[in-house]
Amino acid sequence: MEASKELLQQVDSWILAHRDEFIQDLQTLVNIKSVAESTPGEHPFGEGCAEVLDKALEMSSRYGLDTKNYEYYCGRASYGDGDKEIGIFAHLDVVPEGNDWIYEPYHAVVKDGFMIGRGTADNKSSAIAEMYTLRILKDLGIKTRHKIFAFYGCNEEVGMKDMDYYLEHEKAPVFGFTPDAGFPLCYAEKGIITADFVSREIEGNLVDFTGGHASNMVPDYAKIVLSGVSEEQVKAAIGSDEHFTLHMDNGNAVIEAKGVSAHAAGPDNGVNAIYLLCNLVLENNLITGSAKDAVAFIQHVLSDCHGKSLQVPFEDDITGIITHAGGMIRFQDKKLRLNINMRYPVKADQELLEKNIFATVEGAGFTVENFDNSTPQYVPVDHPAIQALMDVCREYIDPNSEPYTMGGGTYARKMPMGVAFGAGLPNTPKLFDIPGHGSAHGPDEYINIDMVLKAIRIFIIALLRLDELEF
Ligand SMILES: [Zn+2]
Repeated sequence: MEASKELLQQVDSWILAHRDEFIQDLQTLVNIKSVAESTPGEHPFGEGCAEVLDKALEMSSRYGLDTKNYEYYCGRASYGDGDKEIGIFAHLDVVPEGNDWIYEPYHAVVKDGFMIGRGTADNKSSAIAEMYTLRILKDLGIKTRHKIFAFYGCNEEVGMKDMDYYLEHEKAPVFGFTPDAGFPLCYAEKGIITADFVSREIEGNLVDFTGGHASNMVPDYAKIVLSGVSEEQVKAAIGSDEHFTLHMDNGNAVIEAKGVSAHAAGPDNGVNAIYLLCNLVLENNLITGSAKDAVAFIQHVLSDCHGKSLQVPFEDDITGIITHAGGMIRFQDKKLRLNINMRYPVKADQELLEKNIFATVEGAGFTVENFDNSTPQYVPVDHPAIQALMDVCREYIDPNSEPYTMGGGTYARKMPMGVAFGAGLPNTPKLFDIPGHGSAHGPDEYINIDMVLKAIRIFIIALLRLDELEF
């Protein structure tokens, strides 16, 4: 059904009347620290994720929606009783808060029409938005042919096992969209490879090397500990370079590096703290033994972000150039372990890609562990659902809207038929302009409240168009 002028007026007044409630509900979810971890027992992604899911389902059921908890992997709220389903997929887990917050990550504050806190933008505002979209359908008595549901995931940021579990236990929706990017819509996502590059047992003066919290972030902090070097030697190496700080601990030099964090899909926007330390210790001969060779290989891998150092400099006309980032490093059992996060174009030759990566890594005396390849997502732009959603964007957002592609991985890649749609709107004002602050995975993440409320209105219009299609 088409959203009439009268209906849109009702939707607008409903949203206006529920603005404060929206803010409160979003605050409630943001204040629960829900970084997904793997835990044994009945809460597979930890207590925080279980708590935030319970809260979202409790709200949904309080608002009159049907709810279901999929053993704490994920949950959903649904409206209507059609046989075929259309799903909206948001996630409730967040990336770790990282460093450098000016505000409190888990004590959401509202300022000048924005809310600041970890998960405000990615992706808890979308979780409340999809919940409120269903509430509006219900409160305004809008009947749909399809059952419409709001999915609440708990493992989006670290492996999407929530979606795997859901699709093993529930039929796939005929169409799904995930408001985990920006309007208009993303019809192709690069493939994602994650892997650990692990050195042989090394000897030398390396005592420790640690950096990063998550595979999908360029780390803004890393630390290396070396024996057998003097304070003066390291001080001379550092000079006036403000990326580094030094202190001595039991005769060992502890060097810390500060970079700039960024999403792994856009590593050019960050400065990798692990790479900074590799450069410092190698250029100044601070590291010895086979540790030196291992660190040299890591430096080589991180010396570019577009696959060159791994012999895979691929590019295509749909999703563009390959990217890779080193998100984490650890030194355990005398072995260095570098985690790599790579986003490759949809048309890349996957066999060649894997072959060249393994050959490069093994050629340097490292092994590849925990190799995972999440294959690309691609829905042709002439698909009727894509056309319907693009029509909505052109009528209600910008007549010149064009669908896009990206390196970021969303739930869309797990769906048989799905895209990323919203919830970021173009030309949304910024709260502040402090480099490295305010982005989805960075410190002081924030969201514009009115932008999300506008997205809810677009979701209603879009769902009514999708509901008319024969899938
Ligand atoms: Zn997200």
